[in-house]
Amino acid sequence: MDTSAPLDKKLRDATINRKKRPGFRCLGKQRDGNYAIMIGAVTGTVNGDQLMKLADIVIKYAAGGHFTTAQSMVIVGIKEENFNDAQQAIVKAGFDIRSIGRDVRQVKCCAGANLSPFGLQKTPPLGQELEAMFRGLPMPMKFKISVSGCPNCCANTMLNDFGVHGVMNGWKVFIGGKMGTKPAIAQELAKLVITDDVPRYLAAVLRVYREHAEPNERLSKTLSRIGLEAFKSEVTAHLDTPFDDFIKEAENARETAKKATCIEHIKLQ
Ligand code: SF4
Repeated sequence: MDTSAPLDKKLRDATINRKKRPGFRCLGKQRDGNYAIMIGAVTGTVNGDQLMKLADIVIKYAAGGHFTTAQSMVIVGIKEENFNDAQQAIVKAGFDIRSIGRDVRQVKCCAGANLSPFGLQKTPPLGQELEAMFRGLPMPMKFKISVSGCPNCCANTMLNDFGVHGVMNGWKVFIGGKMGTKPAIAQELAKLVITDDVPRYLAAVLRVYREHAEPNERLSKTLSRIGLEAFKSEVTAHLDTPFDDFIKEAENARETAKKATCIEHIKLQ
C-alpha cells in the first residue's frame, strides 16, 4: 500500500499565508481542488433532526463529511460553483461555520457525568456556557478549550490552552497544553474551582495571555517565557476583573464571521 502524497507547495504556501490573518478564518482549498466547510456542534452533540439536515446538505453539495478531532464536522469535496449555496444551506440549517483562525475555538467536551459511568461532573452545561461567552474572541494565536468530566481527560484536557477536568465538588484547571510539532502538556492553574467560577478563571487567563503574548505566540510559549508562577499570580489578580468586554467582543466577532462569505474570504488571502 502506497500512502505517500506529493506536496502541493503552492497550496501549502497559500495556506500558510492565510494562517497569518487575525481573528476568524474559515477552511481553505483542499488538495483535490475543491473546498471544505467546517461546521460546529456545541459540545459535539447533535440530534436526529440536525443529522438529517446535514445529510441533505452533504448529498446535495459535497462528497462527504469528516469528523475532526476537535468535534467539528468538515463537509468536504464542495465544488467552487456550489460553495455559496452550501454555505447558506448550512447556516439556514442552524449550524455555525467554525473558525480555524486566531481566536477562541469551540469547546471540546467529553460525554461527562450525564452518560459516562466515570463522570464526576456534567460537562455539557459548562461547555455550552464557555462557548457562549468566549468562542470567537480574537487572540494572538488559536486558543483551545477542553472540558472533561473526570481525571481520565477524554477530551484531551492536558493538550489544550485551557482545560478543566471534573473532580468531586468542582473542576481542576490546567493551562498551556497544545499539540503540533512541539507538543506541550498543560500545567495546573488551580486545584478546585466551583462550576460558576470557571468562566472567570478563563477570562483572567485570556486577559493575561493577551497582555503578554508576543505576535503568533501560543500560550504554552508565553508561559515558558514569563514563567508559570508569574502568569498565575497575574491571573489571580484578574479573577475579579469584570469580563463583559470579552463577552461582547466575542459576540461581535461571531456575528461578523456569520456574515463573512467564506469563498471571498479564501480568495482574498
Ligand atoms: S473524561 Fe471521564 S467522564 Fe469524560 S468520557 Fe472520559 S471517563 Fe467519562
